[in-house]
Amino acid sequence: MTIGILGGGQLGYMLALAGYPLGLHFRFLDPSPQAPVGRIAHRVTAEYSDHDALEKFAHGLELVTYEFENVPVEAARFLAKHLPVYPPPDALEAAQDRLSEKKLFQKLGIATTSFAVVNRASEIDEAIRKIGLPAVLKTRRMGYDGKGQWMLHTQDDVARVRSEFPNTPLLVEDFVAFEREVSILAARNRTGETAFYPLVENHHLGGILRLSIAPAPKLNTALQKAGERAAEQVMQELNYVGVLAIEFFERNRELIANEMAPRVHNSGHWTIEGATTSQFENHLRAVMGLPMGSTATPGVSAMLNLIGEIPQPADVLAIPDAHLHLYGKSLRPNRKVGHVTLRAASLEELNRRLVQLPEFFQRAEFCLPARPAVVASLL
Ligand code: AMP
Repeated sequence: MTIGILGGGQLGYMLALAGYPLGLHFRFLDPSPQAPVGRIAHRVTAEYSDHDALEKFAHGLELVTYEFENVPVEAARFLAKHLPVYPPPDALEAAQDRLSEKKLFQKLGIATTSFAVVNRASEIDEAIRKIGLPAVLKTRRMGYDGKGQWMLHTQDDVARVRSEFPNTPLLVEDFVAFEREVSILAARNRTGETAFYPLVENHHLGGILRLSIAPAPKLNTALQKAGERAAEQVMQELNYVGVLAIEFFERNRELIANEMAPRVHNSGHWTIEGATTSQFENHLRAVMGLPMGSTATPGVSAMLNLIGEIPQPADVLAIPDAHLHLYGKSLRPNRKVGHVTLRAASLEELNRRLVQLPEFFQRAEFCLPARPAVVASLL
């Protein structure tokens, strides 16, 4: 049985690794001849807009899913005429535009940041009057890892953006002075069965996820239920099939939805070693209509992203219960090239392990000096 996956990055790579034990085969489509999955699976190099290539790609596949959320919706709809495509293209569409995402959250009564649409430079002042400063200006589409985002602290910042206005639809949203960022990973299969992982605490720098701690320290039932309820509502509304991630700001013990991703997610990488069933396996189970796997977490995990560079493997593997994942990508600044998951029986032990990480992780860009303090403050 062969599953087609649109996008051939590390998420696809880890999906395939989770699928091989289930007897699945994979065929990927990605415009880049360097897409990492080429190391381990059949990769078709073609543009998403190439209908002939899409048709050939789809031939003999059981179903198609995606690992990249900016796959053109049109390509997903085209494939859906030929074979099952999960998550549904409508979900892909909703998640690709920050405006439709926010409208969906609002419609479902899920708290989200207040926002104003800005289509041209002349609209920015009115939007700032409505939202106030500080604010965050974001491109509605194609933003990821902090790209297409501008912090607006002062009227000078507003003036600068007005004069260098990017020629693309934008949103201004209020800056949330959150206590922390958390995310939920949820899954729903073809028969409507759902599964939820515990909320994860995420630390970003420069808009890029650096560290996740799972389950989130100081997680109480009310917060977990709030995260699950939001994910459940979105999945119901979109007749969703697959893994869904929602990122939240936590403020005063309340969750404010920031954005969602209709796919497996970086803040769920810890599930490979840290949960009974990984997000990757559960995504495959969901799209295949198989029973959902347990999301139980025997201990706690920290996931550290390797961004632009990789440590000596032996240094990482010398740490008890540290797990190294390298994606086989060429090294470039700000590029996610791998991750490390550290597992421990308790937060105290995890904290000790974080402190003992090798020198490679002690540099500022890895935020390590802050990390143990962060974790310690949450114990
Ligand atoms: P996003 O691309 O929306 O996930 O934003 C990347 C990161 O920027 C988030 O994880 C936050 O750390 C920060 N950020 C984005 N929007 C806001 C906001 N409205 N208020 C405060 N921080 C934000």
